[in-house]
Amino acid sequence: MDVLIVGGGLSGLAVAAFLGARGVACTVLEQEREVPRAPRNHLLTDATMRLLGSAGLDEPVRRIALDHAGRLFALNTLADAERTLLRTPTGGVSCNEHELEVLMLAEATRLGAEVRMGVRAADLDAEYVIAADDGTIRDSLGIGVHGSGTLGHLHTIRFRAELEERDGFLVRAVGGILLPEEPGTWSLSVPEAGDPGELVVKALGADMPVDLLGVTVTEVAARVADTFVHRRVVLMAKSAYTLPPAPGLHGNARIRDAYRLAEILGGEAPLDAYDRERRPAADQAMADALKERYSP
Ligand SMILES: Cc1cc2nc3c(=O)[nH]c(=O)nc-3n(C[C@H](O)[C@H](O)[C@H](O)COP(=O)(O)OP(=O)(O)OC[C@H]3O[C@@H](n4cnc5c(N)ncnc54)[C@H](O)[C@@H]3O)c2cc1C
Repeated sequence: MDVLIVGGGLSGLAVAAFLGARGVACTVLEQEREVPRAPRNHLLTDATMRLLGSAGLDEPVRRIALDHAGRLFALNTLADAERTLLRTPTGGVSCNEHELEVLMLAEATRLGAEVRMGVRAADLDAEYVIAADDGTIRDSLGIGVHGSGTLGHLHTIRFRAELEERDGFLVRAVGGILLPEEPGTWSLSVPEAGDPGELVVKALGADMPVDLLGVTVTEVAARVADTFVHRRVVLMAKSAYTLPPAPGLHGNARIRDAYRLAEILGGEAPLDAYDRERRPAADQAMADALKERYSP
C-alpha cells in the first residue's frame, strides 16, 4: 500500500506510528525542519494512553510525562492565595506536545515510516493521501467547511521563571491561561496581543526575573470539513477540523482519529467509515468546545 501523509504534526505522526505498528510503511512530508517548540496539548487521557500503547508508545510517554498535577484553578494573579478549582483530571498523564511529537517521529521512523522534515508537499501522487496539513489540501479539493469560523487568536508566550507551582491557572488579571511546560518553563496564553513581558509580570502578580523564550499566535476557530474523505484523500488535523481550546481534549481526539484511520487502512472497514464515524465525533466536539469554553 502506498500512503503519503502531508503534515508531520500530532495527527500525521500519530497515524504514521499506528500504521507502522500494523506493518504498513508510509511517507510523511513536513514543511518545518524541526518539531515546533510552541506549547500546545498537555493532557493525554487513559483511553489515549491505551491507544498509544498499541504502538509501544505508552511507556516512553510516561517516562517524559511532566511532573504536572493537571489541575486547573482560577485566580486573579499567581500571587493570590484565593483560588477556585475548575478541573481535576481523573487519570491520564500530562505530556508536552513537543516532546510527544519528537517521540512519535522517532517511533514512526523505527516502525518503517520515511519522515522527511523540511519538505513541503507539492504533488499528491499516492494510492492514499492523508491530508494532515493546515487546510490547504481541503481547500484545493473544493471541500467546504461548517461552524462558527474564526473566533479570535491566542497569543502564547513561552517563558522561563522559578515558580514553585505545578498546576495550571486561569488568570483573571490577563484573561489568560498559565500552564507549566517542561521543567522551569511556562506558557501564558492570552486572547489579546500585548507586551509579553508586561503580560507575564501582570499574570504572576510579582516583578520577578523572567526569561522570555518566544510568542506564537494561533487562530481560535470552530470549523469542521463537510466531508473527511474525498476519493483516496483523507482529511485529518486542521484540514478536518479546528476547535477552540477548551476542556475538551482535542489532542486526544486527533490521536483517536489517527488510530481509527490506521485500523481502516489496515482493512478493518471501508475508507468511507472514517468519514461516517469521525466527522460526527468532530461535530460533537465542536459543539462541546463552544459550550464549555472557560471565560475568566
Ligand atoms: C496554545 C495551544 C494550547 C492547546 N492546548 C490543548 C489542550 O490543552 N488540550 C488539547 O486537547 N488540545 C490542545 N491544543 C490543540 C492541539 O495541540 C492540536 O490539536 C494539535 O497540535 C493538532 O496537531 P495536528 O497534527 O492535528 O495539526 P498541526 O499541528 O497544525 O500540524 C499540521 C502540520 O502540517 C504541516 N504542513 C502544512 N502544510 C504542509 C505541506 N503542504 N507540506 C508539508 N507539511 C505541511 C505544518 O507545518 C504542521 O506541522 C492546543 C493548541 C494550542 C495552539
